[in-house]
Amino acid sequence: MGYQIALDGPAGAGKSTIAKLVAKELNFVYVDTGAMYRAIGLNCLENGVSIEDEEAVTDLTNNADVTIRYIDGEQAVLLNGRNVNGLIRTPEVGNAASAVSVYKGVRTKLVSLQQELTKTENVIMDGRDIGSVVLPDADLKIYLDADVKVRAKRRYDELIAKGMDAELSVIEEEMKERDYRDMHRDNSPLVRVPEAVLVDSSYMTIDEVKDAICSKFKEVVKNA
Ligand code: C5P
Repeated sequence: MGYQIALDGPAGAGKSTIAKLVAKELNFVYVDTGAMYRAIGLNCLENGVSIEDEEAVTDLTNNADVTIRYIDGEQAVLLNGRNVNGLIRTPEVGNAASAVSVYKGVRTKLVSLQQELTKTENVIMDGRDIGSVVLPDADLKIYLDADVKVRAKRRYDELIAKGMDAELSVIEEEMKERDYRDMHRDNSPLVRVPEAVLVDSSYMTIDEVKDAICSKFKEVVKNA
């Protein structure tokens, strides 16, 4: 087993941007677990399965093949053999992901896939339950947070840059709803475990956050 860095936090805190940079600097593999929940959400939308129907969602998930591949160093999520990276970044799929991620059957399947991925590599993994459930023995746990207004603006800028339609106030409201659901669900809610280092990225640059995490990691290794 290699080194493990667990990175948790609410939507839009910058987890994936930061995790990619840290992975590059430390030469780790980056595992984006949100993308896997998004693939499950997409699968329901595409198959007309109601995200409210736990049994139908669980059945569909149990029959789905979700795989992670690395193509030119980038993570690709394959849903039943099809690369769905280009389809999972919409707010609609994000909301579906959040809705289906409350179901135990969905989490059980994805958590075991995620744990499988860490067996041979040094990884930085981001999500909501990484420090608490997926990698409880991680060498370093980070809880990355930011003010909800800052997070909503970042998401808004991202969507506009991709040429998508977006309204800031709607994004902020949806983000608050998603945070609430992620923090209050029965199965693996988003929590800051006591040993996680809190990093508030509201007024930090991307490089400052990356450097803070890399130096924390180096400190952990030095003191091990
Ligand atoms: O991080 P991202 O926005 O891509 O995640 C989409 C949704 O997937 C989250 O709102 C959350 O409900 C769910 N998720 C989760 N556990 C994870 C990663 C994501 O429940 N480890």
